[in-house]
Amino acid sequence: MKITSAEFITSAVAANQYPTDGLPEIALVGRSNVGKSSLLNKMMNRKALARTSSKPGKTQTLNYFLVNKSIYLVDFPGYGYAKVAKSIKETWGKMIQTYLAKREELRFMVQLVDIRHAPSKDDVAMYAWSKEIGIPVVVVATKADKIARGRWQQHTKIIRETMNVRGGDPILVFSSETGQGRDELWQEIINR
Ligand code: GDP
Repeated sequence: MKITSAEFITSAVAANQYPTDGLPEIALVGRSNVGKSSLLNKMMNRKALARTSSKPGKTQTLNYFLVNKSIYLVDFPGYGYAKVAKSIKETWGKMIQTYLAKREELRFMVQLVDIRHAPSKDDVAMYAWSKEIGIPVVVVATKADKIARGRWQQHTKIIRETMNVRGGDPILVFSSETGQGRDELWQEIINR
């Protein structure tokens, strides 16, 4: 997709700070360090609009980015950082849980997992929870440049099986280094 504009709009700490213009919203979720900021920057053709490697676990905000004045990419806090194992639902505050369950503008969720590793318990729980709520999910397997192309299929198969990804939810292979998967992800965002 041709990016004509990409703007950071707000870090919402309360529901009354969400945009009120009714534009569609896409939520981006994943473990800390999975490559979410890098993906956001790549999608928006910006070097550092979404910060990379910010201290995980601190922010409980929803960061809104407006692309082409027509769609919001909503960056979620990373999960899976806590030293003491906590469930995702404990990691995120009420506001964020309520957003996922109730936000009318939310079209679907993009869930990032590292293509190199089998999904974590948190990844599995996050996906299962989204299905409980009834949100469609596009799974994105990140850092694809770190393994040989010939192994992508094998790794995405493990992701599909471990997370029990439903037939209707695609798994896209992505790399912020090479741009692999960028156009496919925009296609998903636009066509859904
Ligand atoms: P976040 O915590 O999920 O926002 O992750 P970041 O975007 O900050 O990325 C974490 C680390 O992984 C950084 O050192 C990035 O440079 C690196 N990284 C992210 N995406 C890719 C990728 O597609 N390929 C490679 N090789 N490294 C990546």
